[in-house]
Amino acid sequence: MKKNIQLVNIKSQFEEIKENVYKEWEKIFSTMYLMLGPNMKSFEKEFAKYSMAKYGIGVDSGTTALSLALNSMGIGKDDEVITVSFTFFATIESIFHNNAYPVLIDIREDDYTMSIESLMDFIENECEFKNNKLINKKSKRHVKAIIPVHLYGMPAEMDEILNIAKKYNLMVLEDCAQAHGAEYKKKRIGSLGDAASFSFYFSKNLSALGEGGIILTSDEEIKKRAEMLRLHGQTDKYTHTEIGYNSRLDEIQAVVLREKLKLLDKWNNRRREIAKSYSEGLKNLPLKLPKEFDHKKSVYHLYVIRTEKRDELFEYLKENGIGCGIHYPIPSHLQPALKNRDVFMKNLNVSEKVSKEILSIPMHPHLSNDEISYITEKIHDFFKK
Ligand SMILES: *Cc1c(COP(=O)(O)O)cnc(C)c1O
Repeated sequence: MKKNIQLVNIKSQFEEIKENVYKEWEKIFSTMYLMLGPNMKSFEKEFAKYSMAKYGIGVDSGTTALSLALNSMGIGKDDEVITVSFTFFATIESIFHNNAYPVLIDIREDDYTMSIESLMDFIENECEFKNNKLINKKSKRHVKAIIPVHLYGMPAEMDEILNIAKKYNLMVLEDCAQAHGAEYKKKRIGSLGDAASFSFYFSKNLSALGEGGIILTSDEEIKKRAEMLRLHGQTDKYTHTEIGYNSRLDEIQAVVLREKLKLLDKWNNRRREIAKSYSEGLKNLPLKLPKEFDHKKSVYHLYVIRTEKRDELFEYLKENGIGCGIHYPIPSHLQPALKNRDVFMKNLNVSEKVSKEILSIPMHPHLSNDEISYITEKIHDFFKK
C-alpha cells in the first residue's frame, strides 16, 4: 500500500483532547460568553506561568502578537528594528505595521538563529551610539529594538543578544512562534526579553483550531498597553484613548489551547525523541543534521536537514508518500514585497545559501516508530541510487 505520511498531523492531537474540549464548549454555548471570558483569562495566566513570564495577553494571531508587542514596547514611526532575514515573513511585516523599518541581518550556519557576528557588524560598522541612542549612520534613523527568532524550535543565543541590547539601549522582542516550551539555560523562552510573541497557528507546537496568538511580558506598562490596543484602544467602555485594533483571542480557541497546554511537555518530549531517532538513523549520510547544544534545548517544531541535492530528495520522498516542506525557500530580503521598500541589509550569504539546501521532513508528536524507520530508510535509498 502506498504510504501517506504528512509533515504535520493535528487530527491525532485533537483525538487526545476532544472529550474535554466538547465538554467545555457546551458550557460556552450555554452562556454564549464568547469573548474576553474566563477561558482566555485563565489561559493567559496558565501559559504565562508555563513560560515563566508574568503576564499573558491573548490575541488573534502570532502576527498580531508581534505587531502589538512592538507597538506596546514603544516602537513606532521611523524607528528601526533589527531582525533576521531568514524567518517567516510575518516577523518583518510586524515592523512595517508600526511604520518602522527593518534591518535584516544574517543567521548562524549551525542552528539558523541570529548571528551575533552579523549583529555586531551592523552595530559597530553602520551605526553610531550617541546620547544613549543607537543611530543608523546611513538612514539617520533610531535603531530601537531587536527581534531574535527561535527558529524551528531552537532558542537564539539570548545571553549575547541581551548583553548587546543592554549596552546599546535596545529593547528585545522574542519571536517564539516556533518554540513553545523551548529552554535556554534552564529558562523558558518567552521570559527572556522585554516581551515575546507566540502563534497558535494550526501547525505550531501549541495550536488552536483556527487562529490565535499571545504576547508575554513581565512589564506592567507593556501589558496594559497591549490590552488596550487589542480592544480598539479602549481604556474604558466606549472611551477610545488611541487608535487600536480588534484582535481578541476568542473563548472557543482558548478552551482548545488550555487542553493542549496540559499535553505540551509530553508532545515536545516526543518530538525530541523523534529527532533523536532521526539523527541516529541518518548520521552516516552526506547530510547536515540539526545540532544539539548543552545550554539550550530545542522543541523541534521542525526537523530540518540540509543537502545540495535538496530538490531531488524532496521529489524522491514525495514519490514515496512522504510529505516534506521547505522553511523557507526565499529569505525575506529577496521577497517581492520588499523590492521597493527602504530596508537596510548587508551580507546575507548564509541565509541565501541555506534556503537552497534545507528540507523539513515529517515531525509531529504522533509520528510512529514505523513511520520514522520508513522515512529514514527512504532517505538512505535516495543516497544509494
Ligand atoms: C507562524 C509564525 C508567525 C506568524 O504567526 P501567525 O499566527 O500565523 O500569524 C510569526 N513568526 C514566525 C517565526 C512564525 O513561524
